[in-house]
Amino acid sequence: MAQTFGSIVRRALRRRCPACGVGSLFATFTRLAPTCKQCGWIIQREAGAVTGAMYLIAIVTQLFAAALFFVVWLATDWTTTTKLLVGLPTIAVFSYVALPFARALWVGLDYYTDVAAGETAAPEYARDAYADGATEETQP
Ligand SMILES: [Zn+2]
Repeated sequence: MAQTFGSIVRRALRRRCPACGVGSLFATFTRLAPTCKQCGWIIQREAGAVTGAMYLIAIVTQLFAAALFFVVWLATDWTTTTKLLVGLPTIAVFSYVALPFARALWVGLDYYTDVAAGETAAPEYARDAYADGATEETQP
């Protein structure tokens, strides 16, 4: 069943499977689960399938850092040291918290553009490669 782009984005923001909307996309806070426990959809369908999420989080974090820079620059009279001591950890925390959402959005985009168009997982991912408890880092 094809999903609308809006429903896939909403599922991504809730960190849910784009296929069923029920199963969690994540095994831990930032690590993608190998498959959806609810419907069995293979979340990382091929090597490098979520590489785009790295670019997405880099762009979002840089936009946040730029906005934070202007807010701190315009709204405070802090010293440069104070600005850095407040700003850098804030940016690091933002990046960590936003990372799973970037991954979820990228998985949803992958689902919307490829799976909905009929593509399936690469053969090595389509088999039960994760059934032995392997994680995404141990996959080829
Ligand atoms: Zn699912």
